[in-house]
Amino acid sequence: MNDQALVLFSGGQDSTVCLAWALQRYARVETIAFDYGQRHAVELQCRPRVLQALRAQFPAWAGRLGDDHVLDLALLGRISDTALTRERAITLQAGGLPDTFVPGRNLIFLNFAAAVAYRRGLSVLVGGMCETDYSGYPDCRDNTLKAMQVALSLGLDSRVVIETPLMWLDKAATWSLTRQLGGEGLVELVIEHTHTCYLGERSGRHAWGWGCGACPACTLRRRGFEQYRAQAGAGG
Ligand code: ZN
Repeated sequence: MNDQALVLFSGGQDSTVCLAWALQRYARVETIAFDYGQRHAVELQCRPRVLQALRAQFPAWAGRLGDDHVLDLALLGRISDTALTRERAITLQAGGLPDTFVPGRNLIFLNFAAAVAYRRGLSVLVGGMCETDYSGYPDCRDNTLKAMQVALSLGLDSRVVIETPLMWLDKAATWSLTRQLGGEGLVELVIEHTHTCYLGERSGRHAWGWGCGACPACTLRRRGFEQYRAQAGAGG
């Protein structure tokens, strides 16, 4: 039965919304993250606070939320040469991919997640991968994940389902989904506790959350939030 899920939960906005989505659907939900020497570990530090806030504010979800797993993938940091893992400016590479791209990162994550899920008796993997805003990341595309789902199911000889609730949503729609799942309380939780900023900046609190306010990730989050608020204000 597909009623037990493992959520790839980084501590960012998207994966937090995916976690709420899973908690609404599945009887048991566990979480996993990968520590691969990110330039700033701020996201990982947000995770326990998000989990604690979810448990405290959503008692119905607290009973479903099980173990949290953090895997050390330092090796991935060593074989990557990107702005996420080294102190470099975030620029576009020649191929047009953002410099934060770790080649094939999501494929590696999904393999490890599937192995943990198998051992834990969880058949659904949930991730915040999305084609709408990050089409530059080929390992986040729907077809890539469908192929991965087949490969994992065959390789484990056990049916694996990969759910990506944000795949076709833009950032404004992700905020709307947040409100649908947990009301303004969840929107506020995401604003306060999740992290998105590429620079790891948490000194400034904006209407949409903490961040430098200028990097590509902050810009995307701010625009999405403003659009969401405008739509909500217009009765959307
Ligand atoms: Zn930023």
